[in-house]
Amino acid sequence: MTPKTRSPIWHPFTQHALHDEMTRVVRGDGAYLHTADGRRIVDSISSWWVVTHGHCHPHIVSAIQNQAGKLNQIIFAGYTHDPAEEVAALLLKVAPPGLDYVFFSDSGSASVEVALKMALGYWHNIGKQRIRLVVMQHSYHGDTVGAMSVGARGVFNAAYGSLLFDVTSIPFPTRGHEQATLDALESACRNEIPAAFIVEPLILGVGGMLMYPAWVLREMKRICEASDVLFIADEVMTGWGRTGTLFACEQANVTPDIACYSKGLTGGALPLAVTLCRADIFDAHYSKDRTRTFFHSSSYTANPVACAAAKANLDLWQDPESRQRVASVATMQEQAIEPFRADPRFANVRRTGTITALDLKTKDAGYLAGVGPKLQAFFKDRNLLLRPLGNTIYVMPPYCVTGADLDEIYVGIRDAADALA
Ligand code: PMP
Repeated sequence: MTPKTRSPIWHPFTQHALHDEMTRVVRGDGAYLHTADGRRIVDSISSWWVVTHGHCHPHIVSAIQNQAGKLNQIIFAGYTHDPAEEVAALLLKVAPPGLDYVFFSDSGSASVEVALKMALGYWHNIGKQRIRLVVMQHSYHGDTVGAMSVGARGVFNAAYGSLLFDVTSIPFPTRGHEQATLDALESACRNEIPAAFIVEPLILGVGGMLMYPAWVLREMKRICEASDVLFIADEVMTGWGRTGTLFACEQANVTPDIACYSKGLTGGALPLAVTLCRADIFDAHYSKDRTRTFFHSSSYTANPVACAAAKANLDLWQDPESRQRVASVATMQEQAIEPFRADPRFANVRRTGTITALDLKTKDAGYLAGVGPKLQAFFKDRNLLLRPLGNTIYVMPPYCVTGADLDEIYVGIRDAADALA
């Protein structure tokens, strides 16, 4: 039975039977969150991977304040504004070369829906029957119906199976078995003549921080290109320095046909997303009779205040210091996980760029493993914001994190293993 005194708020990805006590946060500052009861929490996962430069970065805050007093919302069909134009121009400068157009939306899931609709719209509008999508096993692309359909089937979407469309899934490239992945992709491209292949480059996030090398990404792009299959890179998590470069695709020297960015796009200050595409995908939606219009929008598309935050984020990336911080977080993270490689209580101790992950050896594994909520509670008591994916503990800090913060985080992880392994 639901307790009568509980808050009326229904929280996301939260089992209220286990977590009815929410931590009330009143202030964010750099890598820290300050709670109503006076505690300081180290935000070890950048508040769901969004807060790249730290909470309340002064440059982003002041950009938001300035824009909010000037123009805070405007219909984006038939109208435009400076913050959106500036963000689009800057994005095309930093994104892989060959991406020419920018479509705005407001969440990672929406940017994926837009990508799928762009891909299918492209084939439809040029008069070819290509409707099938190829995906990678264990992927996660968001919680809307299209995004769920291209994501892994499992506990997250078991209730909604009848809403989801059928896709072709290729295996995740585990070490030593990369060729099986590439062969499966090649055969799907040859036999099914799909519209597109969608993938999280270098790291599958929600699926368990599963990492694979850049050469596999490069090969997957080559295979798609050879069969005219559109290559969609979902960089919602991997973008904005997480993998060590601004975007993960850079490491494979890959230009996707369509790319999705969100999360760190505003430095984690406001919701915004973009889907970038090649000119010919835009051109296929260009017709005087309006039939080829890209029929997608949301009321707040390219909200000017969110765009001002994104512009401020892009300013910060122009400063070499941002990239230096990424490099130094990557180095500190490597040093921090090193001792865990020899710790028999952990398996698969791994890192790509600024992200580390390690699997605590437990009897049960997977997202619903009982150890997940226990770990979360343990870390909460330690004033650490960590949200393991089942028995997989990962650290994805804001780039302003210090060595002392990381010490606190990894001592917490070691102590959690002492208490729970
Ligand atoms: N794609 C990937 C790779 C993600 O990691 C996420 C969010 N974790 C999404 C899409 C969905 O983004 P959002 O939660 O902003 O809808």
